[in-house]
Amino acid sequence: MLVALQHIRAARERIADKIERTPCVLSQSLSEHAGHPIHLKLEHHQTTGAFKLRGASNAIAALSREEKSRGVVAASTGNHGRALAHAAKLEGIRAVICMSKLVPENKLDAIRRLGADIRIVGNSQDDAQQEVDRLVAEEGLVMLPPFDHPDIIAGQGTLGLELMEQVPDAAAVLVPLSGGGLAAGVAAAVKGVSPDTKVIGISMARGAAMKASLDAGRPVQVEELPTLADSLGGGIGLDNQLTFAMCRGLLDDVILLAEDEIAAGIRHAYEQEREIVEGAGAVGIGALLAGKVKANGSTVLILSGRNIDMSLHRRIVCGEIPSFAERAA
Ligand SMILES: *Cc1c(COP(=O)(O)O)cnc(C)c1O
Repeated sequence: MLVALQHIRAARERIADKIERTPCVLSQSLSEHAGHPIHLKLEHHQTTGAFKLRGASNAIAALSREEKSRGVVAASTGNHGRALAHAAKLEGIRAVICMSKLVPENKLDAIRRLGADIRIVGNSQDDAQQEVDRLVAEEGLVMLPPFDHPDIIAGQGTLGLELMEQVPDAAAVLVPLSGGGLAAGVAAAVKGVSPDTKVIGISMARGAAMKASLDAGRPVQVEELPTLADSLGGGIGLDNQLTFAMCRGLLDDVILLAEDEIAAGIRHAYEQEREIVEGAGAVGIGALLAGKVKANGSTVLILSGRNIDMSLHRRIVCGEIPSFAERAA
C-alpha cells in the first residue's frame, strides 16, 4: 500500500509528545441498542478539537530544517487550518492560512489566536488556493494539503494504531470520510495489525465526493452542498495521488447519511454520552442509530471533532434542526 504500517509507526514516535492519546470508552446505550459492545474513540477531545493535529504535527515534524525555515501554507479554514497553525506554533515556524472574504469572523479569530499569519483574498476557496500557489512559487512556503499527502495520512493513521490497542478485538471501525486522509490512514493501521477487522467509511449524502469517485472508478467532482457535517464537505481533487487508491483498496464499505440522521447522531452524543460533537464527528453514531451499519461484534466509532457553532448545536439538540436542511434538500 501507498502509506504502510511502518510509516504510521514512525509517525507515532515522531508526534508522541505533540498530541493527546484520547480515551476510548464503552457506550452503554449504543451497546444495548446494537446488541454488541460499541466503543467511542473520543478524538474530539484532541488538542484543537479534531484529529487533524495528528497529520499536521507529523507533516511539520517530517520537514527538513531548510523547509521549516521557509514556513508552511494551506487554504483550509476548518480543522486542518487550525491544526496546522497550532503545530507550526509549537515548532516555532511560520504558518500562513489563506482564506476568502466569505469566511466567518469566528473561524478567522480561532486561527488568528493560534498565531498564524492570515491572508484574506477573493470570494472563493479557489481564490484562496491561488494565493497559496503564489506563496509557494514566490515566497517558497511549503504547502501542506489537508489529506492527500503521505505524512498527513500517516499521522492520521496513528489514531488507528491507538484504537486497536484500546479495543484489540474490534470487528469493525466506523470512520468519518471526506478527502479520505483519516480513512486511508486508519484503515492502513487497523488492517496492518488486524487484517480481518472491517473499516467502514461514513459520509453525508449531500456531496459525498469519495463515494461518487469510488463508484465511478476514478476521482470525480460533485456539487458542494450545505450540510450539518460541514467538515466532510469538499472534493477529493481530480489529480488525487493517494487517498482515492487507498480508500478503494482498504475500505470494506462506504455508507451515506441523510441530514436528519446526522442530527440524530449529534443529539445522541449530547443526551446519552454527554459529549459535544460536530456533524462530521457524529456520523458513526448516526449510521448505527439509523440501522445503516449493523454491528457484528465489538465496534469502534471515531468521534472525529467537536468544532461546531454552539448556537447551531443548541438548535439541533432542541430538535429545531434539521428542518432547514430538509427544506434545502
Ligand atoms: C477533516 C475531518 C474529517 C474527514 O477527514 P478526511 O481525511 O478529509 O476524510 C472528519 N471529521 C472531522 C471533524 C474533520 O475535521
